[in-house]
Amino acid sequence: MTQAQTPNAMKLEEIQRETLADPELQQIKQNLQNNQVYKLPKAYKLIAHELCITDQDILLRGDRIVLPNKLRQQAISLAHEDHAGMVRCKQRLRSKLWWPEMDKQVEERIRCCHPCQLVSKSPRPEPMEPTKLPKKPWSKLAIDVCGPFPTGEQVVVLTDYYSRWPEVKILKSVTSKNILDWLLSVFATHGFPDEIKSDNASYFVSTEFKDTLTSWGIEHKTVTEYWPQANGQVERFNQVLEKHILTAQAEGKAWKPTIPIMLLHYRNTPHRMTGRTPSSLLMNREVKTKLPSFEQQTNDETETRMKDEEEKEKSKKYTDKKRKASPRNLEVGNKVLVTQKHRNKFTTKVHPDPMVITKINGTQIVLKDKNGTQHRRNSSHVKLYQEIPDPEEEIQSDRKHDRQTESREENTEATQTETNQNTTETEIVLRRSTRNRKQPDYLKVG
Ligand SMILES: [Zn+2]
Repeated sequence: MTQAQTPNAMKLEEIQRETLADPELQQIKQNLQNNQVYKLPKAYKLIAHELCITDQDILLRGDRIVLPNKLRQQAISLAHEDHAGMVRCKQRLRSKLWWPEMDKQVEERIRCCHPCQLVSKSPRPEPMEPTKLPKKPWSKLAIDVCGPFPTGEQVVVLTDYYSRWPEVKILKSVTSKNILDWLLSVFATHGFPDEIKSDNASYFVSTEFKDTLTSWGIEHKTVTEYWPQANGQVERFNQVLEKHILTAQAEGKAWKPTIPIMLLHYRNTPHRMTGRTPSSLLMNREVKTKLPSFEQQTNDETETRMKDEEEKEKSKKYTDKKRKASPRNLEVGNKVLVTQKHRNKFTTKVHPDPMVITKINGTQIVLKDKNGTQHRRNSSHVKLYQEIPDPEEEIQSDRKHDRQTESREENTEATQTETNQNTTETEIVLRRSTRNRKQPDYLKVG
């Protein structure tokens, strides 16, 4: 990487040599000597009254050296040697050097600087994408493991995305087999769902787990790493469950026997998002609890759906605002930097090697690293990598740009020479630009 090398100090002799070898600067020098300011490229025409040529054939703008094209990137490297920020870098250059679009080139280079990108601030998170309420109850479920709790057990939680009906199982040891045994007993009551979502925990990604779900006709989907929000449904119930267990302990009660009553209450309390009880949505009837009930609710499907969407939208707005979310345009083929786990305070926020996006599915991004290994991340953990443009391509586009500006300028010149000929302004400019100014000390060769 060019910026990684220690850039060499720039000598005046070098500038002299490269100025003589730079066709554009030679042309400008000629224009100035021939009093043809109107022939100067636009960027130089604007500052023509500040231009002069030194005895060593170096072009100056005021006290600043107009750097030949070939040395410009080296100068930026020197100014950015310590990875100073944009502003300081520009200030350093501006005090001694000038060339057209200097600021823009500095910005481009720093934006593409590999080490700077590794330590820069994390990208803003992407707005939440609310999941649509499934078409029917017990079709899409989420599974997660909660705990371990102080008594050593863990709790497996299965939630229906439609009704928010939870099923829980307390397990001493969590294995694919233990989970599957329990799932089958749950499915004996409610039937098989169409789809189950889980994280990438080993017991959920084992061949045994995947193959068994497939044999039951269930599609298994895993959510991306480091992304608890994606499985929010389960996470929210987990919080209720954890709080319940902790309060039971605080009250000096054994928590395990209290779980069935807790579930009874949860399943028969209107859910914030749907406004309906999980019981009524899953079983289409209210269940008798310890609290007296008069109401006979029937499931008004449209109303439930509207309420769910309304609440999700509210929650999205709130979360997006809190997380200062803003959408980013990522595309397949983009090179990106990916957030890595924080190992110590010297670990950079992102992994040093950029990866390539191979697939985008909403906010889920599939990436390929330099070894060809696939990774999945949520888009909020991914930021666009600014690549150093291919110098060949850049030269091409520069030439194209120059040609365009030239032809445009030729057109305006024609009219200008007719109307503006011999104005005082032009005269002043011509006189000044041909004069050799006194050089600042640091420019003296020797
Ligand atoms: Zn840098």
